[in-house]
Amino acid sequence: MPEPIVSRAESAPIFERLCLIGVGLIGSSIARAAKEKGGIARTIVAHTRRPETLARVRELGFADVVEEDAARAVEGCDGVILCVPVGAYAGVMRQIAPHLAPGCVLSDVGSTKGSVIRDLAPLLPPGVHLVPAHPMAGTEHSGPDAGFASLFEGRYCILTPLPNSDPAAVEKVAELWRRCGSMVERMDAETHDKVVAIVSHLPHLIAFTICGTADDLAEETREAVLKFAASGFRDFTRIAASDVDMWRDIFLNNRDALLEMLARFTEDSHALARAVRWGQAEFIEDRIRRGRRIRRGLIERKQA
Ligand code: NAP
Repeated sequence: MPEPIVSRAESAPIFERLCLIGVGLIGSSIARAAKEKGGIARTIVAHTRRPETLARVRELGFADVVEEDAARAVEGCDGVILCVPVGAYAGVMRQIAPHLAPGCVLSDVGSTKGSVIRDLAPLLPPGVHLVPAHPMAGTEHSGPDAGFASLFEGRYCILTPLPNSDPAAVEKVAELWRRCGSMVERMDAETHDKVVAIVSHLPHLIAFTICGTADDLAEETREAVLKFAASGFRDFTRIAASDVDMWRDIFLNNRDALLEMLARFTEDSHALARAVRWGQAEFIEDRIRRGRRIRRGLIERKQA
């Protein structure tokens, strides 16, 4: 069960001035949750790269300050969360690192964690605390209009602190996610990357591939594919509708774990194909039953 959300009236905000670098689906959802639930930050500063996104963020009004310069955005902040595609981290960090205030907590929401530590830790100024995090919540939509305050409610957020991370900084980030409505778990970055490779990255790889395979079919068949999509293909198309930059960066930054899971998956799918070829009904039934069991388990954990 998610831990109770403490209202603004009951507690001081975790951060005085919290900067979100990137305010698409995830960044804007954090800002909206901070505004609606309270107790997270007294002032929200938002930075995004393109002028059209900056203008839209100003219109939407979920940030107190909208800043077009990343370095200026982080100045004087006691919390900074990177909410950009993971492939952009190194470049963003080079811009902001000299401007991070001593004592600032630097966190992120990236879907890979080994690469994030690789790209951020070497540039970390003394006295700045790095606490990587990954909210396990999202949709296939992107941009500042796609966010909503309840996105993280009842969902897990995984923190992957480093062995030398400051415990008080880790607790601040954990508390931020609890106040967004999430259940917080901690693990090391390597374990995280393996877990998400199987639960998220491989399913996306399969969805992109199935859509590509269907698209390669002759024109006539493709029409029929779209017409009868409700039979299962549709669920893959929802996953496959995800953001290009984000998923390119995830695949390239979780390469080893993803390829390991893909190799295991390929082996297992060949075993099922062999059972189909040789008419081994029991093997096939066993695979289907396992799928049903896993689905039931998710429903029971309220993660379906
Ligand atoms: P999004 O909606 O596409 O928003 C991305 C934000 O990053 C926008 O503000 C964009 O700014 C900015 N940005 C994009 N490329 C950039 C670059 N090269 N340099 C600087 N800024 C850049 O993405 P999102 O879904 O919020 O994802 C953000 C992060 O959350 C990613 O690291 C992703 O792995 C992670 N995440 C996503 C989900 C999900 O389901 N979507 C779930 C958990 C974690 P402009 O619009 O101004 O270009």
